[in-house]
Amino acid sequence: MKYLISLVALMSVILTLVSSIYSGYRVSKQTLIDSTLATNQAYADKLANSTETYLMMTLQILETSAESLSNLIQETGNEEALAAEAERLKKQTDTFNSVLIVNKDAEILATSPQTLGLKGEKLVSVGGKEALEKRSAFISQPYTSLTGRLIIFISQPIFDEKGRYLGLVGGTIYLKEENILQTVLGEHFYKDGSYVYVVDQSGRIIYHPDPKRVNEVIDDNKVIKELMAGFDGAMEVTNSQDKVMLAGYATIPTAKWGVVSQKEKKSAIAPSFSMTNEMIGKTLPFILVVLVLLFVISKQIALPLQKLAYYTETSTENSQEEKINKVQTWYYEANQLKKALNFSLNFFQDRVNYFIHQSTTDPLTKVWNRRSMDETMKKWTEQGMPYALIILDMDKFKRVNDTYGHATGDEVLKFLATEMKAVSREQDRCCRFGGEEFVILLPETDAAGAYQVAERLRKKMESTVSPCGEIVTISAGVAAFPEHALHPAELLELADESLYEAKKTGRNRTIGQTKQNV
Ligand code: GH3
Ligand code: MG
Ligand code: MG
Repeated sequence: MKYLISLVALMSVILTLVSSIYSGYRVSKQTLIDSTLATNQAYADKLANSTETYLMMTLQILETSAESLSNLIQETGNEEALAAEAERLKKQTDTFNSVLIVNKDAEILATSPQTLGLKGEKLVSVGGKEALEKRSAFISQPYTSLTGRLIIFISQPIFDEKGRYLGLVGGTIYLKEENILQTVLGEHFYKDGSYVYVVDQSGRIIYHPDPKRVNEVIDDNKVIKELMAGFDGAMEVTNSQDKVMLAGYATIPTAKWGVVSQKEKKSAIAPSFSMTNEMIGKTLPFILVVLVLLFVISKQIALPLQKLAYYTETSTENSQEEKINKVQTWYYEANQLKKALNFSLNFFQDRVNYFIHQSTTDPLTKVWNRRSMDETMKKWTEQGMPYALIILDMDKFKRVNDTYGHATGDEVLKFLATEMKAVSREQDRCCRFGGEEFVILLPETDAAGAYQVAERLRKKMESTVSPCGEIVTISAGVAAFPEHALHPAELLELADESLYEAKKTGRNRTIGQTKQNV
């Protein structure tokens, strides 16, 4: 019972704890995921904005330069001035790895650094050719340059005052070497496993903290697809290395590039594991205290029931009622149970006592009946306890009945029973042997002692008027165990012989057994 209560309580405690720890874990995990997504989106936004601003500024500077080059480029002999402008641009902006000034026939007029060795050559690179054709502000896709580098080309056209196309001024960004993108984006690379990369409009990586991945095309990535469609946002995505990432992304409109800021989900939610561990660690002592309390309380609940059950099981023993009453029932149900138990116990005890009384007592005279007389003699004999037996019979009782009626005769019998009790001790047993014959059993008494008791009774009767208005005398015979006989039947027979002798020799007398047990 106590284990059952403990078990139920324990299970509910554990369930509550497990579910609260689990939901705590779920909530903190979701919070971490949400905040990581939001942070990454904010980062991507910010980086896209600053890159956008930077590109606009770069185009602006190139445009200003193109205006100032308009005259220079039309005249010959300005080689040094052109070279100086290229140099100035590269130094001023610090954006480009190299700067080129090209005329409309694709001839390279000046470069910075001059060491490129391209002066006088034709501009035949993919980006260069495209820029010459477009004759407008231009940001190329990544391509491999004449010098074998992966680059991006940014340029502005040069026009004369009449709007005729004269050539272009442009700069390159070397994607796989130290470049401006690294300066703008790389400093935002934070150490907790988050990083930023940039793709162009076809999903080709143009910036990545791992330079080896630059120029790789990512096309099966949901984030990249969103970027290509021109959307900003944040989402959970599985990357090309099968890692689940929490990515924020934003577009750079001028260049149609996209910035992705992302963090591996595993490392983002790691704190929720350690938080859960900490929570378990902190609640463990609490659980232990609760367990001890649970055990004590359930023991207290079960104890009264346990005791009541035990005492009920053994309720045939007499002292059980007292024990049941002593059981501490500190809560209502146990108390009710105790009351009910006591009630039924008392009820059945009363019934049992009543039946015991009925089966051992003579209803008329209220002395022991013949059956209990036999049982007592048998018990004392078996115990080897010395005892004496007086058998007595009313003298001429028929006449009493005949003269005064049977009812009066009954009164006389009751009167005799009262006198028998009066002359005997508490431990003596007065019994009705049958009709108007009675027996007194006297424990720890010899024949001589019993004889005195019989005589006292006889004298009392002979000197007292009975309820019929007359004196009614008795005759008695006495025998003792083990003096005269070793068996109850034999002892009775001997006493009866003495009684017969008393009747024969004139009544109103006591005769002791003279025969000695051999
Ligand atoms: P004795 O001196 O020889 O004993 O003469 P007695 O008349 O007493 O003779 P006996 O013992 O043979 O008779 C017993 C009588 O006791 C017979 C019966 O009517 C009467 N008796 C037996 N039991 C009861 C009883 O319960 N009530 C009454 N009123 N009389 C009883
Ligand atoms: Mg008789
Ligand atoms: Mg008689």
